[in-house]
Amino acid sequence: MLHPKAKGAAVQNDPDTTLVTATGPIANVTHGGRAKCLQRLVRLDLPVPRTVALSFDAVHKIAKGEMPDVASVVAAMPDGALMCVRPSSQDPDWGGPGAVLNIGINDTRFEELCDSIGEEAAARLYTRFVQGYSINVARLDPDMFDDVSGQGRAALTQSLRAYEIETEEQFPQDPEVQLTGVLRSMARAWNGTSARLLRQAKGAPADAGLGLVVQEMAFGVGNGQCGSGVLQLVDSDTGLRQITGRYLSQSQGRDALASGAGSLYLTRDARGPSLEELAPEAFKELTEHAALMRRKLRAEMQVEFVIEDGKLHILDGVVVARSSRASVKIAVALADEGIIPREEALMRVEPRTLTELLHRQIDPRFTRDVIGRGIAASPGAATGRIVFSATEAQALAARGEACILIRRETSPEDIRGMHAAAGVLTERGGVTSHAAVIGRGLGLPCVVGVSDIKFNLSKKQMTTKDGRVFGEGDEITVDGSSGTILAGSAQMIEAALDENFTRLMGWAEDVADIGVRANADTPADAQTARNFNAHGIGLCRTEHMFFEQGRLTVMREMIFAETGEDRRAVLERLLPMQRDDFKELFRIMQGQSVCIRLFDPPLHEFLPMHKAGQRELADALNLPLSDVTRRIEAMSEYNPMLGLRGVRLGVTVPEIYEMQARAIFEATVEVSRDGDPVVPEIMIPLVSARREVELVKTAIDAVAAAVRTEQDSSFEYRLGIMVETPRAALMAGEIAPHCAFLSFGTNDLTQMTYGLSRDDAGRFMSDYVQQGVFAEDPFHMLDTQGVGELLKLGAERGRAAQPGITISLCGEHGGNPESIAFCRDAGFDYVSCSPFRVPVARLAAAQLAI
Ligand code: PEP
Ligand code: MG
Repeated sequence: MLHPKAKGAAVQNDPDTTLVTATGPIANVTHGGRAKCLQRLVRLDLPVPRTVALSFDAVHKIAKGEMPDVASVVAAMPDGALMCVRPSSQDPDWGGPGAVLNIGINDTRFEELCDSIGEEAAARLYTRFVQGYSINVARLDPDMFDDVSGQGRAALTQSLRAYEIETEEQFPQDPEVQLTGVLRSMARAWNGTSARLLRQAKGAPADAGLGLVVQEMAFGVGNGQCGSGVLQLVDSDTGLRQITGRYLSQSQGRDALASGAGSLYLTRDARGPSLEELAPEAFKELTEHAALMRRKLRAEMQVEFVIEDGKLHILDGVVVARSSRASVKIAVALADEGIIPREEALMRVEPRTLTELLHRQIDPRFTRDVIGRGIAASPGAATGRIVFSATEAQALAARGEACILIRRETSPEDIRGMHAAAGVLTERGGVTSHAAVIGRGLGLPCVVGVSDIKFNLSKKQMTTKDGRVFGEGDEITVDGSSGTILAGSAQMIEAALDENFTRLMGWAEDVADIGVRANADTPADAQTARNFNAHGIGLCRTEHMFFEQGRLTVMREMIFAETGEDRRAVLERLLPMQRDDFKELFRIMQGQSVCIRLFDPPLHEFLPMHKAGQRELADALNLPLSDVTRRIEAMSEYNPMLGLRGVRLGVTVPEIYEMQARAIFEATVEVSRDGDPVVPEIMIPLVSARREVELVKTAIDAVAAAVRTEQDSSFEYRLGIMVETPRAALMAGEIAPHCAFLSFGTNDLTQMTYGLSRDDAGRFMSDYVQQGVFAEDPFHMLDTQGVGELLKLGAERGRAAQPGITISLCGEHGGNPESIAFCRDAGFDYVSCSPFRVPVARLAAAQLAI
């Protein structure tokens, strides 16, 4: 027998088939993650069986039919060793063909094994290999083994016979032939269409390579204590330190995890026997190795091991699978112990997964009874009884019962119902529809555009695709994270805003170099924004303040006023309410910037759509019903989103903006008296022409001057515009000199750039995405090519005309890591997003700066 070192000499110097030693040239990008990891384990002097790594190049050639020197690979193994082959892709998430065990077994080795490990065990190994080889390598029909009966030698003989009948050849006895076949089939499997599509869906590039590792088998079967298992030092759900895993005597591969029956716990456990009791020394050694791997590989690892006659072998290590909560806990713990720097801890957490920590989620282990799907509009999950109106939602909430509000789409009239509901479901709408925006603001689980359920709102019923009917009072669950609707209740995991989360966010704050503000309309939103340490409010949609109880009627009275004078009189009554709103926002934000957007929507959005509401309004205003319906009809527009709204209202009905400006300034004076001076930001929506800004600015300056005189105060304020029409972006050079800031409203800007209704696009968006017309829903993922071009151009022209002007983005895209990267590259000062997306945005911003 050759000395093992000498035996490996042939492969040692070949970069395509490299014996894994402490020093060989092995990297993720040439041999894959598994080979790299095994090399690290060898460097740590862990008991790793002899391993040869085949490079991406070698495997690529194998797929084309050019075999490497297989004889030298076999020769590198100890004499007579059986082998296994496992995939080694660059990123373990990209998968790969399943491992093949016990290569090299043949009639002679079988007889030898009968002596060493017993006939029963030896026959089991050989039969498993014959059947696996026949199906995966020789590509024979799996049915051919259906008639194999019995166990042990009988089953083996039948399997070998079946192979011979089918191929008219003897089962290959030469280990080199067997290994060649296995390598070829694994290399080809990687190039199969479904494997390719699967890994590309996980982010793998089209030309992703596969490496393979050939490893000497450590038997988990035989005499003495033999078995295999996996161990990790943390709990995958919580990230808490706890030895977990399974061990199965007389087993190989991942049998211990698969079988359940007969497998043991690792540590001494009240639930049953454990490896710690069965093989205390191997267990001790194993936990020491695992701790060393954690420290040196700088990650929580799942260790795959085999015990062979009491002797421990470490076969492999992979980074542990973990929940979002666990990934935060693990990253923080590794940084705290000095194993990784804080920057790396920040990079280890996927920003989007933080949403799972911020909201209740359905337990992933729970079996879902899905009855419908729509657009995941606001994350989190909630169970409740079905209600079909805001009034019913409030009634149920008053009784302390959770409810799910179902509407065709929501309107301002539903806001109170949304506050009362645990979750919302709408038949229509997309990611920027009313229900979606309000839902995200409130942190309320919401699914919109549910087109596969039939809703009969007058009958208060909904019918699912499979014909099940649900009515008022029936219990359902809304999962706004996945966009699914479930029958009945579901097992939940609570939000986990623990100390680890807070600390990670603190570290993000230290490195991020683009600001993150929150879109906050109410004191509750502002408080959430403050709790998440947002850098101020980037968008306060003031119209949302008028939907509150008591105000809607006054608002409607204002809309119905015949003359400017009458309107001013009603606005006088709204003034103190608005002033109180702003005072509260300024106080909560404690000196941080608060950007208040003046009134934006078309006025008729505030009017009741249905007869009952119109009757109530006629009653409240003491008008004949016919007057009310006539006025509502007269105000309706063919295309309200492009009609009398935003600054167009400010120009034509100036009293509203004047009242709002006064409320802002009076609140500024009052709050500045008891603390730091407040410098409010006032934002004009839907601008498309310079003159609009000039007119509104003159009016607001006049209100500011009046309040300064009346209050004997000298406050400052900043005026800016929302860039949400393509023309505003194009004219930014002309408009910017009148502004302190430009904030891109990418919801409307996307709508207007595409000529695509943000409220109706949900109906056909999935078809468009499926057919590849759009890569993604542009209301969800910023269209960096088209809309992005307008952003860059607007920012450049604005800056050229007014150096130092503040540039930001406040559309729903503000919380997307990809949009934040775009804004940062374009030199924006900040992004603003829903309060519950602030942590995601802050982590994404930090990662961009690292
Ligand atoms: C926008 O249009 O991007 C925006 C932030 O305003 P809203 O969603 O209120 O129209
Ligand atoms: Mg807008």
